[in-house]
Amino acid sequence: MHEFSLMGEVLEVVRDSAREQGIRRVHRIQMTVGALGCVFPPALEQAFGILRDGDALFADATLEIEERPVRVHCNACGWSAEGADARFLCVECGANAVEVMSGEELTIDGYEGE
Ligand SMILES: [Zn+2]
Repeated sequence: MHEFSLMGEVLEVVRDSAREQGIRRVHRIQMTVGALGCVFPPALEQAFGILRDGDALFADATLEIEERPVRVHCNACGWSAEGADARFLCVECGANAVEVMSGEELTIDGYEGE
């Protein structure tokens, strides 16, 4: 389950930043996860719940995940679509000019603490 090690890395990034800023309790962590990122948000949340346990810095923290659908756009004819089943060949004109506009995100958007 790679969400577990991923979540561990996220918490390490936040931990380093919190240490630099003198933050001793994190209240909220915000992430964006794209549907093409091969990350399953409920598994991330589950990993967060386990990793948070017994860790004073994250004991009161909540995790907010914004999920981004796959959005594609054809540069040849202007067709665009949204959804996990989006193809990489344009269904309108058949061109191999379809660009992924969103869905590949995997970012830590920020966190709050004191
Ligand atoms: Zn097209």
